[in-house]
Amino acid sequence: MTAQMTTLAADIAETDAAGIVAWAHREFGSGLVLTASFEDPVLVHLVATHAPGTPVVLLDTQYLFAETLWLVEKLQQRLKFPLEIVRPLDDVQPDDQWQFDVEGCCARRKVEPLNRVLQGRTGWITGIRRVDGPTRATTPPVQYDDVRQLTKINPLIAWSDEDVEAYIVANDLPRNPLVERGYPSIGCWPCTRPVAPGEDKRAGRWAGQNKTECGLHVTTKATANVTTTTSEGQS
Ligand code: SF4
Repeated sequence: MTAQMTTLAADIAETDAAGIVAWAHREFGSGLVLTASFEDPVLVHLVATHAPGTPVVLLDTQYLFAETLWLVEKLQQRLKFPLEIVRPLDDVQPDDQWQFDVEGCCARRKVEPLNRVLQGRTGWITGIRRVDGPTRATTPPVQYDDVRQLTKINPLIAWSDEDVEAYIVANDLPRNPLVERGYPSIGCWPCTRPVAPGEDKRAGRWAGQNKTECGLHVTTKATANVTTTTSEGQS
């Protein structure tokens, strides 16, 4: 177990996303940050409500869908959260690298900007859910990221698709229009396609390539009972 590991308060259930977010706010204060893919509005709403003032970071790869940017604007107008749009370094410009080198493209457009964002932070909220796929099936609600030396908080880890839908309806939240067009997992437009009924939710990400994750969630998990190294996909 890593010395810096912070464990979730014992009286907070892993399904209690609001409780986890509020706990993270108390625990990490101004050291807390949320990175959001804006695939859905749930976590941004939870953080704006239960951890007000926490920066919400959008990693702008230069290849985001227009629908995703639309949802960012709609939610920001309504919830007034501090939005940080983080872009690649100046020498990274739109090009065709994604056509022949997806690992290199993700490294320059996602991983490097994320590492920059997380420098000096102590708590990182993500939207990972176990139902996203096999690589996330055993992820705990709180884990220590040995690579970036901070605590990673996954408030939605135990939520089902039905839980997400119920929350959106209950709070009358806007949706990413791509979801109803068959995109249950949304990343950059060159590397995301809709999925067929019955397909894995992330089957549309880097389809046809030997790649299932982009390196954002490479981490060492540490819980009270188990420590394993794993690599998970992007939110
Ligand atoms: S998902 Fe595709 S376009 Fe986006 S950074 Fe990775 S390789 Fe590039």
